[in-house]
Amino acid sequence: MTACDRWLDAAGSLAAGIEIGTPVTLSQRVRRLTAPNASYMTGPGTNTYLIGHERVAVLDPGTADSRHLETILAVTGGRIGWIIVTHTHPDHSPGAAELAQATGAPVLGNRSLRGVHQDPTFAPAGGFSHGQKLATEEFTLQALLTPGHADNHVCFLLEEEGMLFSGDHIMQGSSVVIFPPSGDMRAYLASLQMLKDYPLQSIAPGHGTVIREPFAEIDKLVKHRLQRERRLLEQLARRQPASVQTLARKVYTQLDPRLTRMAEATLLAHLLKLQEEGVAVESAGEWSLAAGDD
Ligand SMILES: [Zn+2]
Repeated sequence: MTACDRWLDAAGSLAAGIEIGTPVTLSQRVRRLTAPNASYMTGPGTNTYLIGHERVAVLDPGTADSRHLETILAVTGGRIGWIIVTHTHPDHSPGAAELAQATGAPVLGNRSLRGVHQDPTFAPAGGFSHGQKLATEEFTLQALLTPGHADNHVCFLLEEEGMLFSGDHIMQGSSVVIFPPSGDMRAYLASLQMLKDYPLQSIAPGHGTVIREPFAEIDKLVKHRLQRERRLLEQLARRQPASVQTLARKVYTQLDPRLTRMAEATLLAHLLKLQEEGVAVESAGEWSLAAGDD
């Protein structure tokens, strides 16, 4: 699930340069294949990344769309060594099972412990710990655990190129929905900051095109979240006690009605963060500033 604040904010335009069903060469080792599942939730569609040539790692096979899976098999010549997923939302991992069946490659990814909107078919042969590496003759992928968008989210750093496969942790031109309880705003912001310790040269996101200035993008995303949090605190001070629904209407103006639920969920994630920090309190579904705050 990847509806993003860009749509919520009704700003920006869909990623240019995305082709559906045709592999796009991004670097010596990496090709991108975008699945035909464009929507207001997935933007131009889910990006599947093909890493390596002799023995390919397929990262985020996407939905169980037979055309897309056939294209993956054709483009790789079936030489698939690993099927890796960043997280198990329904637009990222359901293609894994069929691809594993067709090739015998293991599915690797972490399970969600607090899952909602999850892929029920996800059955990994193994998972990742933070810093764990998949090293082959052609490439080294380092797993970086990035909870926030989902509790089981993992980004992968292609060490030879400094390219970060960011799944839905970072998407191009937008910010992602944080849907509690699997989504967690505090964890999300901490995971963004953590990435700044790595030698990133580019970000290859789950949706959209390659981001060439990774550190500026991370700073922008953090700033955007904190600005929204400030807007929320202003509204909370004026309207308390107030429901998530009331606050969402005030904080997100010009909201596409299809995205109301996503906006409310993300706002709830902000409120839960503020609650953990002792800034906001909830009682019978109504939120207020904690006593002692202005
Ligand atoms: Zn997602």
